[in-house]
Amino acid sequence: MFTRNDKLSREENIKLAEESASKASQLLDAIETAVKEGFKHVPKYGTTPTQNKKLASVTEVIARLQSEKSIAYRLKSDYSTMDRIAAEKQKLEEAQKEKATKEAERVKLVGEAIQYLIQNGKIINEHFTIENAISKANDLAFELVVDKLNQDNTPIDFSGDDNCEDCAGWIPGSHRCDCGNRRVGWVMGWGHSFKQPSVYAEAY
Ligand SMILES: [Zn+2]
Repeated sequence: MFTRNDKLSREENIKLAEESASKASQLLDAIETAVKEGFKHVPKYGTTPTQNKKLASVTEVIARLQSEKSIAYRLKSDYSTMDRIAAEKQKLEEAQKEKATKEAERVKLVGEAIQYLIQNGKIINEHFTIENAISKANDLAFELVVDKLNQDNTPIDFSGDDNCEDCAGWIPGSHRCDCGNRRVGWVMGWGHSFKQPSVYAEAY
């Protein structure tokens, strides 16, 4: 910038002032060019001449350029959000599908249980209901297997005979094992069902 120096001649001062003015003019031109270029680069939403003039202002162009600097970051963030929403939607759809499949399987099993109970002489709404058909069928299957097993009078092995002494085993249906040390009864095996009955003898 120029400041008058009275130690110099007028001609010298004028020369220095003209140089400073010229430099200022060059800088302003460069700034105006940059602002015009910047204005071309940023989004413009103005619809009236007044709005457009405001949008072309230095302050507004700088603010918009600063915002534009983070555009790639924001785009990537938008894409991750879209991916996340899509993944959540897919997960939800899969869960709903699985739930529907399980429900269909349950309904089918209820039907099979009802069929099984009726075939074995049970009457719906008297001996069982739709709600308890599966557990009633499982119980009935256990009873039928036990009745059949109890017809055999041969001593059999049972679970929990470690306290027995010279024990021949347990005669199905009796209260105690052969040596008399253990009380024995029939129990449902893990996963017992009317479709696949599982019954074994166990000391209790
Ligand atoms: Zn015994």
